[in-house]
Amino acid sequence: MLSVHTELKFLTGVGAARAQKLIEHLRLRTVADLLGYYPFRYIDRSKFHLISELNDPSTYIQIKGYFIAFRNEGAGKAKRIVGTFKDESGTVDVIWFGNQSWVTESYKLKKEYIVFGKPNQFKNTISFPHPEIEDPLVVKSRLEQGLQGIYRIPDSLKDKAINTRYIRNLVFQVLGVEINDYLPESVIKELGLLPLQQAIRTIHFPSDDLLFRRAQFRLKFDELFLIQLYLVQNKGLRKVEWKGHVFSVVGEYFNHFYNHLLPFPLTEAQKRVIREMRKDMGTGKHMNRLLQGDVGSGKTLVALLLMLLANDNGFQACLMAPTEILATQHYQTITQMLSGMPLKIALLTGSTRKKVRTEIHEDLQSGALHILIGTHALLEDVVVFKNLALVVIDEQHRFGVAQRARLWAKSVIPPHVVVMTATPIPRTLALTLYGDLDISVLDELPPGRKPVVTTHMYDHQRLRLFKFLRDEIAKGRQVYIVYPLIKESEKLDIKHLEDGIESITRAFPPPQYASSVLHGQMKPDDKNRNMELFVKGQTHIMVATTVIEVGVNVPNASVMVIENAERFGLSQLHQLRGRVGRGAEQSYCVLMTTVKLTSDGRKRIQTMCETQDGFRIAEVDMQLRGPGDMDGTQQSGMPFDLKIANLAEDGIILQKARDMADALVKDDPLLEKPEHSALAETLRNYKNRESNWSLIS
Ligand code: ADP
Ligand code: MG
Repeated sequence: MLSVHTELKFLTGVGAARAQKLIEHLRLRTVADLLGYYPFRYIDRSKFHLISELNDPSTYIQIKGYFIAFRNEGAGKAKRIVGTFKDESGTVDVIWFGNQSWVTESYKLKKEYIVFGKPNQFKNTISFPHPEIEDPLVVKSRLEQGLQGIYRIPDSLKDKAINTRYIRNLVFQVLGVEINDYLPESVIKELGLLPLQQAIRTIHFPSDDLLFRRAQFRLKFDELFLIQLYLVQNKGLRKVEWKGHVFSVVGEYFNHFYNHLLPFPLTEAQKRVIREMRKDMGTGKHMNRLLQGDVGSGKTLVALLLMLLANDNGFQACLMAPTEILATQHYQTITQMLSGMPLKIALLTGSTRKKVRTEIHEDLQSGALHILIGTHALLEDVVVFKNLALVVIDEQHRFGVAQRARLWAKSVIPPHVVVMTATPIPRTLALTLYGDLDISVLDELPPGRKPVVTTHMYDHQRLRLFKFLRDEIAKGRQVYIVYPLIKESEKLDIKHLEDGIESITRAFPPPQYASSVLHGQMKPDDKNRNMELFVKGQTHIMVATTVIEVGVNVPNASVMVIENAERFGLSQLHQLRGRVGRGAEQSYCVLMTTVKLTSDGRKRIQTMCETQDGFRIAEVDMQLRGPGDMDGTQQSGMPFDLKIANLAEDGIILQKARDMADALVKDDPLLEKPEHSALAETLRNYKNRESNWSLIS
């Protein structure tokens, strides 16, 4: 008897070797895995293309006609059989590489066939390599169904027999197995969901449009719902199980700073988020919060005030930044703002000298040190605090979830965690990436900021650009020029930067002009020196790579030039532009590109010129790139790979999933009620899944 647990090697057409390949390349071991391997696209098999109209080689299509000749071509590796296939509009080559004598035995001349596949374009000729070929009489019934699923087959799989048709036949064999619906009756009813068995059958073999859409809805919902349930449950459990440090008082440190040293009044948004966080931390709940605030919204000051609160209550606090430059800058800003106050603050990075490092370690353990600022170096096991109660992580997208967890281990009671990010994340993505965190938003910029005037210029307009830069420098302003060093290891890119430095030195010759240079492969000392010169206003131009993308704050710098801007992603462009517009002066951002732009590239540049709203930019970014590729998700990895739902499109389904998950967890936090037992079981499997998981168990 077939069941969802049956291994695929027991199916017809799957020998030991193929079974192994299915496991290795597609991660399909059991019938449940197979049923969970949904088609990634569909073609309408009731429609045929004309050969004379084949023009887009990238999609699956089908044509109908007959072979008029077969011929052998090439020798050795290039040996192939080529069939000339004809319909009423013209002819096209169908190609089989290798020794394929079966081809001429199987297919007859002058007999009608359907050729189905992805056409390939070589120079000006289109051909069909290794298509699927079917007899129209045999597929007649299926043709009437219209849509047919196409399965993703990785390139790494070198078995021509494992193709979309092969998978489809396997799925067809197991369609009858019984699949338990694990969703509670109440959820199914409330949303009018299709039963799981029917949804899965339909997703593989769509019969009619309406049913197909309902199947998609059901499976997308399930996927998002399990993720939300997992996140919501964790969030709830953490709050119950983990006591947080209690920050019960607002004391001398906070008050003194607030009343006497605060350089400017807080914005309403800053006040609000601090209130939100105090409420958590004051009650003994453990706080795990995402602070989203657009570039320049004043997150550093919020972090500082929170750390003072920790100090007021007798605890230590730390602030962790993704780069040494940024950590150093935070250290300087904060020591300056707190100067005169009886607080001990230290900076710990990879290049901190051994002697200083040892002192810091001692001070941390004795409790003499109040605030530690640094980079990943804070995560090392030798860094032990006396009583760490607050961790602020700046620009979190550079840190993985696992790294966050290591910080928690540094204290018996886990410290409160605030993750600050300037990469605005669309709500749907935030719910998925950070669904277990509470979210605060700094949605207001400090007063007096003028929008950054953003323009697009082509490479050949460089002379005009240089003149503009000279004028600005003459007014006492400073300028960033950024190169797209995307992979810092690439020699080619370094060359790019060096060429840039050369041409800039020619256009802005010393001693009249002075430049700083900054890139990831410089020694920390050199980096710091170059940065410092620019901060102090002793250099006019900062030629840099994206190392300055994150957080750098030099208010007098008012022009940002981005070279090869088409090579940057939107959120990166937004980050870079955020480096200017921080002072009172009118600021400018110039996006330099080549004349040839892809349509995506053009859209990015256009979006930047049109808006400065980080959330709007993030939405466009997600539409263009798909959620999996957004900045911030690559480095830390999407914690969940979505098989069918799409965060850019399925916001409404996601919201329903979230609401349902919230309601369910509120009603039954541990999913202990009998009507939730199947769901609890599926969720357990889901958490323990490898990378392919299934709704079916
Ligand atoms: P980000 O949120 O990008 O990290 P920063 O913390 O670097 O922003 O702050 C950007 C600039 O705004 C800094 O120069 C900071 O001193 C200034 N700033 C912060 N809060 C205020 C405020 N309430 N009023 C005026 N300026 C502020
Ligand atoms: Mg910042």
